[in-house]
Amino acid sequence: MKKILIFVVLMIFMPGNQAFSGGNSLRVAILKQADKCDLKVKGYYRIKLPYSEEELIKGKNMFAEVNISCNQISIAGALYNVFGVEIEAKKDGEIYINSRPYRGKIRFLIDEGKLTVVNIISLEDYLKGVLQYEVAHWWPMQALMAQAVAARTYALYMKDMNKSKIYDLTSNVLSQVYGGKRGERWRIKRAVNKTAGLILFYDGKVLPAFYHSTCGGHTDGVAHLWNLDIAPLKGVSCDFCRNSKHYRWQEKIKIRDFIKTFKQAGYSWEGIDAILVGERYHTGYVKTIQIFAGDKEYLISSKEFRSILGANVIRSRRFLLEKVKDYIDIRGYGWGHGIGLCQWGAYGMAKQGYDFRQILQYYYPASEIKKLSWDED
Ligand SMILES: [Zn+2]
Repeated sequence: MKKILIFVVLMIFMPGNQAFSGGNSLRVAILKQADKCDLKVKGYYRIKLPYSEEELIKGKNMFAEVNISCNQISIAGALYNVFGVEIEAKKDGEIYINSRPYRGKIRFLIDEGKLTVVNIISLEDYLKGVLQYEVAHWWPMQALMAQAVAARTYALYMKDMNKSKIYDLTSNVLSQVYGGKRGERWRIKRAVNKTAGLILFYDGKVLPAFYHSTCGGHTDGVAHLWNLDIAPLKGVSCDFCRNSKHYRWQEKIKIRDFIKTFKQAGYSWEGIDAILVGERYHTGYVKTIQIFAGDKEYLISSKEFRSILGANVIRSRRFLLEKVKDYIDIRGYGWGHGIGLCQWGAYGMAKQGYDFRQILQYYYPASEIKKLSWDED
């Protein structure tokens, strides 16, 4: 087995330094603390140090396993005694991680003894890959454009929040799904290109432009969910998402299963005597749920309630519930956290002739749209 040992002075490793991470590039984690991954490169490539131009090795075509061995990064059995390496394909070359193609550079990092894989990609390319998972490519152009501006703004907000971390965003649904090259659709590309560089601002800062699938009648105030309270995210009524298939939902949960699930979260109940909505915010979202069990009363926040039962079961925090015989009947509206842009509402507004600026203004009142120009890396 070929063994390459490369020693470098690690002082150049300064994650979080804005100058290193580049103006319009994003660091998207595509694998977090994994044991290994498959790497395939078609065409010429070079392996270099992150945050620097120092080249370690170059070659053509590769199919290899990447893992961490003796606390070093191992690519096809070659060990790199550094905190991380970057692989870059030459023009027309392609890089695949676990059979998925990616644009830009791939960075392999040692993260608590495991392998974290980060795609370094331009913001605009990232948007072209991610948006098809957020909205359907056949939606009206103005709705796609509103979504493109919201997603661009959100990504920049996350980049700023995560400056000192080893990546800005992850590729799971918590911070948008990123499908790499495969995800692109021409209308989505067009929406990204037509809004290139447009960002939402509030009070001189990049707006935390949260968005969700369907609000079900009203968006919620961000202060009800997270430690943030700003004018554009106080919640607005929305009649535009009625055509969403997520507008209404219903779940019946057997009391037995309910008790079992809550037991794992530390609640030990023999039976449930009653369950009620405790308080509700003015936006219609549930604040607390009251549960009477044994001779005690429990008050659970809707946020905790949803996280214990699962976000795909309790699809929103807008619901009614009642105990019926041996089950709990929950009838709700909308899907998602309910903060910021309602995606199906944007669809409905675009269908009614509103343009993307009006849509954004509606869901993020008091925000401003500005065009940024990038200094190229
Ligand atoms: Zn809505």
